[in-house]
Amino acid sequence: MTRRVNPAVSGPAAGKPIRLEGVSRTWGETVAVENLTVDIPAGSFTALLGPSGCGKSTTLRMISGLEDVSSGRILIGGEDVTGRPSSKRGLSMVFQSYALFPHLSVAENIVFGLKVRRTARAERDEKLKRVAQLLGLGRLLDRKPGQLSGGQQQRVALGRAIIGEKPICLMDEPLSNLDAKLRHEMRIELRALQQKLGFTMVYVTHDQVEAITMADQVVLMNKGRLEQAAPPRELYEKPASPFAAHFIGTPPMNLFPANALKHLCSAPDFKLGLRPEAMHLQPGGPISASVRTVEYLGADILADCIVADTAFQVRLPTSRPVTPGQAIELGFAPEDLHVFDADTGGRRDDLTSQFGALLHS
Ligand code: ADP
Ligand code: MG
Repeated sequence: MTRRVNPAVSGPAAGKPIRLEGVSRTWGETVAVENLTVDIPAGSFTALLGPSGCGKSTTLRMISGLEDVSSGRILIGGEDVTGRPSSKRGLSMVFQSYALFPHLSVAENIVFGLKVRRTARAERDEKLKRVAQLLGLGRLLDRKPGQLSGGQQQRVALGRAIIGEKPICLMDEPLSNLDAKLRHEMRIELRALQQKLGFTMVYVTHDQVEAITMADQVVLMNKGRLEQAAPPRELYEKPASPFAAHFIGTPPMNLFPANALKHLCSAPDFKLGLRPEAMHLQPGGPISASVRTVEYLGADILADCIVADTAFQVRLPTSRPVTPGQAIELGFAPEDLHVFDADTGGRRDDLTSQFGALLHS
């Protein structure tokens, strides 16, 4: 993974690495996080991704020290901080509800933490100026949060987090209250800010697009367990399990039993995956599909098909229209085939070329 920290601009906030070592958290019968081991490189933008209830917030709260671990260790900058209070871990936090103080001005909200820590007035003003400039809040410093748009409020919350120049910033779904356009803008801003300042970011989201567009590393969780930790591109190109394959990508990867295809009827122990965008029309191709509906998306079309009793989505160029009811034949590049063990769910790259060749024979 590349560290995109420019030493020239990474000031006191320069990131520290985080390591979770066999971390678990249980409440009675509920296992929120189970034996999680993850390395978060210094200065990286790491996204904790997964469906609702998979343990993302619990994991973040354990890193922050707001939540105790049931077992395992948490290391920050190589030091065991498992028993350390939140205030001694060198981190800042931004939550979904920005929790700005409504009766304080933007400026007062941003410097609140510095004031509590009795930072000298001159230093406070200096830092406020810098943060306000960085976030484009200069003209809004005297306003109250109620006089700001959602995006501006979000920026104030960010300002409050980064002004302390902590080596680590933790965010839990900070953009989920914003509309789609603003979310997109804030994603770009946040990412740029993190790269500029060089702190380590741990960012919780259930939105795979958010995770893969912003992160250096995505930690994909499922039912409290680690599913896969990898850079976005690797997650997309080499998902480690059917769950990862299905969770990343819109629309999701087509997954089907190998014996659904006549060429592979002797291989029932495997699950195959093909992304909708990996398919093309190919007369005589290895996959016979029947088109059910066609969605026009502008840049391309999405054909909802049936392949051997299984729903199967195919993304095709608008220059090759297909119509509902049509029987089509599809091909794909052998390297675009994903093979998973039907029992363990494990990825079987050793079989990809063999299966690809069978399908193309
Ligand atoms: P996510 O952030 O991925 O949506 P959470 O970490 O909030 O998931 O929750 C993971 C699991 O732990 C859920 O089943 C949730 O109900 C449970 N959980 C979280 N906090 C508590 C708590 N304080 N007491 C009991 N169960 C909890
Ligand atoms: Mg959560």
